[in-house]
Amino acid sequence: MAKVKVKSKAVQAARVAICEACPYFIPTIRRCRQCGCKVEDRAKMEDRGCPMNRWPGDLPNV
Ligand code: SF4
Repeated sequence: MAKVKVKSKAVQAARVAICEACPYFIPTIRRCRQCGCKVEDRAKMEDRGCPMNRWPGDLPNV
């Protein structure tokens, strides 16, 4: 099975910090209201960005 590429811990933490300040973040379940993902899981993924393009340097809507 192909290994999933993940972002560095520093980038993951920066992404999650942006989510925690975002109006689409649902703190009780730590999910994004736009994509439905758990933000810690999505923040790890090299080939996923923020659906609202709030993570700097990432491709939007992937
Ligand atoms: S993934 Fe984007 S839209 Fe969703 S909570 Fe995080 S910053 Fe907000």
